[in-house]
Amino acid sequence: MKTLVDRIDALLPQTQCRKCTFTACRPYAEAIASGDANINQCPPGGQKGIDALATLLDVKSIPLNPEYGEEKPARVALIIEEDCIGCVKCIQACPIDAIIGAAKQMHTIIATECTGCELCIEPCPVDCITLQPTSNDNGYQTEKAKMRYEAKVQRQAQEIKQKAERDKRRKAALAKLIAAKK
Ligand code: SF4
Ligand code: SF4
Ligand code: SF4
Repeated sequence: MKTLVDRIDALLPQTQCRKCTFTACRPYAEAIASGDANINQCPPGGQKGIDALATLLDVKSIPLNPEYGEEKPARVALIIEEDCIGCVKCIQACPIDAIIGAAKQMHTIIATECTGCELCIEPCPVDCITLQPTSNDNGYQTEKAKMRYEAKVQRQAQEIKQKAERDKRRKAALAKLIAAKK
């Protein structure tokens, strides 16, 4: 059975942009459900999203709080590829793995996946990422964005686990070597 948090989360755009000041859409949904956040903190969801949350929670709708940003038309990020130095900072910042590339290689954004969340813009050291208007309303392909985000979170958790296991093996090998020398 769906919880209240699930139903609130289902109304959020899933861009994971953090403009609401939470680390992702779900923590914001949890804060709304517990009464710790208002329903008007999500610029990508805009007035339509606030109205939907108000209906779900049976409260009066209110305007978007401008402290959290403004509602914008759909946009996708574009890398000016000839300026890219392949630093991978944008890949690390993208919450839904919508950027492909490798260290010291040119990077490219998958326009059909990008939600225009803007999180890759600031980390780029050479300012070669811009936002372009799009007719693809990717910001509202919520299920797809959510799945890509969850896959990235899972992959990062796996990488942390694998690193911890490698460190453990390295320490054990080192301890064995030291003991053998004694
Ligand atoms: S899409 Fe809305 S709810 Fe999700 S992180 Fe961005 S501002 Fe927060
Ligand atoms: S490519 Fe940039 S703007 Fe697009 S989803 Fe990833 S971080 Fe957000
Ligand atoms: S952050 Fe900028 S320079 Fe670095 S890989 Fe991404 S687009 Fe290229």
